[in-house]
Amino acid sequence: MASKYERSRLPGELSEQAPPNNLLRALHEDDLARLRPFLELQRVDAGKVMYEPGDQVRHVFFPCGPTLISFMVLLDDGRGVETALVGREGAVGGIVSQGRLPAYSRAIVQFPGDVLRLESAELERIKMQSPGLRNLFARYADCLMAQVFQSVACNATHSLEQRTAKWLLAALDRTGDHDVPLTQEQLAAMLGVGRSYISRVIRQIKERGILETRRGGVRVTAIGGLSRLACSCNEAVRKHFDEVLQGVYPDEEESAAMKANAGDQQPGSRMPG
Ligand SMILES: [Zn+2]
Repeated sequence: MASKYERSRLPGELSEQAPPNNLLRALHEDDLARLRPFLELQRVDAGKVMYEPGDQVRHVFFPCGPTLISFMVLLDDGRGVETALVGREGAVGGIVSQGRLPAYSRAIVQFPGDVLRLESAELERIKMQSPGLRNLFARYADCLMAQVFQSVACNATHSLEQRTAKWLLAALDRTGDHDVPLTQEQLAAMLGVGRSYISRVIRQIKERGILETRRGGVRVTAIGGLSRLACSCNEAVRKHFDEVLQGVYPDEEESAAMKANAGDQQPGSRMPG
């Protein structure tokens, strides 16, 4: 049966296309060929919950292009705090665990777009056939763990202003657009603080001429200023990615090129040699 991905809006034959997810692109050609028949393209809206804590994880989702999903830990008082933001550098849903396990955190879409969905059972089967694929996904799990470790340190030590700037930069790196579609409610929820705290911080950053507020998000007008304001946590994570999974972590330049080339992809052009 043809997968939904094969009937997607992307031009050309799927068998010759580079998938719009950097982790899948980093796979060896043979491993990607094993996965392709089982990848289904799905559109997800902002706010869609992919998993709640305790749900059986039956699918792995690979965010495509600018799609952003975050892992949030829910606390007793009803608040949620974001622990990691996952874009096209990664995947959500037990990529290294064996068999079906319950989800620990909520996985929620922060920026809408496409995801490639793969049944965990198929992934398990294919992992048994390919040590290379197992190794690559294990390396990704290590990078995701680095992201979570860094997030723990960041939440404990860095100011709300630093952390806000950090999340805005992380989103901007992945969407390639200076319009960051994170509302103040989303930012407050991610950072585990009240809306009034975020409003104050956004106002302070705005007064420095670094961003403008608009409906449904903010527009970054001085990325250099935002980078100076942010803590170095994104950079620490990027450095680990560069050592463990070179070329997989998204950056603004790549995102901008991706936007410019949308719908005009060169088949296979981004596959590593
Ligand atoms: Zn930090």
